Amino acid sequence: MKNINICIFCKRTADTREHIPAKQFFKGVSDKNLITVPSCDSCNKGFQKDEDFFRQFWVSMLMDRSKVAKQLMDGEITRSIKRTPALGYQMFSQMQLIDAYTKSGIYVGKKTMYCISDIDKKRISSVVTKIIKGLFFNEFKQILQEDWEIKIIWITPQTEKNLKLVELAKTLKWKVIKEDTFAYGVNYVPNTFQSIWIIDFFRTPLFYILALEKQETKEIKKSYFK
Ligand SMILES: [Zn+2]
Repeated sequence: MKNINICIFCKRTADTREHIPAKQFFKGVSDKNLITVPSCDSCNKGFQKDEDFFRQFWVSMLMDRSKVAKQLMDGEITRSIKRTPALGYQMFSQMQLIDAYTKSGIYVGKKTMYCISDIDKKRISSVVTKIIKGLFFNEFKQILQEDWEIKIIWITPQTEKNLKLVELAKTLKWKVIKEDTFAYGVNYVPNTFQSIWIIDFFRTPLFYILALEKQETKEIKKSYFK
């Protein structure tokens, strides 16, 4: 099947290409090294607001541990907040200082926490869904069908333990798009495109994702979540 002229998100005619993930994440990398997929103009524009939020959110979450995230924060993001102050204001008004402790209970000072709203969660899920559709196409040269389920699991210290993330990550085939910025791992059930994914931004695994044919969801979940 030739999908090259079909938008992988809505299946209308593709007149442009969409970066997976958004180009604005990357600094100092040539366009030909980034992943792009066929997209129509309206899908391409439709993602923009959510993607701006997604990027600002993760950059501000991870800038303490990533030089690249810090640079993005200091540069373009500050500029884009100036351009659309409402978004910046909304993000910072949801930040709170909380007391932070180590695992053994030693107080280590204040830490910025972001109180995430349901709308934010939706925005983030919609961007992760978009990224997975793009990576799916990039891997399998197939459009992820609408009746498939995309199950997104946020990776927190708790899920990390439950999922045995380190072991899981070793079973995936990894592709590094830019070492300090974005990488993904994938594995799939033989003879199908049913797949598991981990996506890393700024060397931090953020999401674990299952892309499954609907009727198979239960079986597969069982086998992965033993
Ligand atoms: Zn489209």
